[in-house]
Amino acid sequence: MRTIPTISRRGISVLALAAMSLLFVSCSSTSDPSSESADTVKISASFYPLVEIASRVGGEKVTLVELTPPGEGAHDVQLTAKTLDELSRSQAVFYISDGFQPDVEKAVASLPNTIVKKDLLSTLSLLNVVEQLQGTEGETDGEVLASGKDPHVWLDPVNMVVMTRTVLETLSALQPESAATFTTNANVYISELEELGTEIDTSMKNCASRALVTSHRAFAYLAARAQLQQVAISGVNPEEEPSAKSLEAIAAFAKTNNVSTIFFETLLPADLAKTLATQVGATADLLDPVEGISSEDLAAGATYISLQRDNLSRIAKGLRCS
Ligand SMILES: [Zn+2]
Repeated sequence: MRTIPTISRRGISVLALAAMSLLFVSCSSTSDPSSESADTVKISASFYPLVEIASRVGGEKVTLVELTPPGEGAHDVQLTAKTLDELSRSQAVFYISDGFQPDVEKAVASLPNTIVKKDLLSTLSLLNVVEQLQGTEGETDGEVLASGKDPHVWLDPVNMVVMTRTVLETLSALQPESAATFTTNANVYISELEELGTEIDTSMKNCASRALVTSHRAFAYLAARAQLQQVAISGVNPEEEPSAKSLEAIAAFAKTNNVSTIFFETLLPADLAKTLATQVGATADLLDPVEGISSEDLAAGATYISLQRDNLSRIAKGLRCS
């Protein structure tokens, strides 16, 4: 169940607000969206994990604009005029810099100084992107930060905790009278994240294989925490297929390392992963980088934590961990 009713989703927010006004607020129905934020902090978050952090910390004290709509990946999102308008009316925006979402960064750069801009990478230590396997391709544009670092920080919950603390500080400064509520909310979320972290540490200690073959190279932080070796079939751009030589190298790696599961993703085409799985006699299973959230998952009440927990059990199964 989604517990945060204040998320404003592109395309449905006005309708939803209108419906809520008609149903529940008999005398204050209005078509002016700015009136919704009279008592709440209006904030924008650039993609799903940051949306979840902001909504968990802010609770009912925030009105939240989601810059990447459900069902879309984060890397190459293009902001619509309506989203840009909502962003420009925010008091703060939470995002990731360094070329992760170029269109978001461009929009953030054009905002006036009155809007607080929080780059959540600024307080994290980032992993370098290293060549994953001899004979495979390097990364594609958008997958790697301009600094050459890996942007997929949220896949290790410890980084989610750091980002949650930054969001807490920002919201508390914007609305000091709600700071105690924000702190309580943040602490509850942080303890859930820490529990997830412990599950990563314990569930993959003893595995028959430590090779994690994935669709796109999103899992370095999770792999590092669980001491797995990630090998990705392609970079972020699903249209840019890896070469036959690269696929051959991965197939050889999978065979040598006794890989029995090749992982594909919710928001990317699964063909290559499934073809590779057939080729090496492995099965294909889903792994979710949680850089977006599908509408189906959202409707089913999925969260960053539940999707990560699904990831852990699939990895534990695929790598035959005991
Ligand atoms: Zn990615």
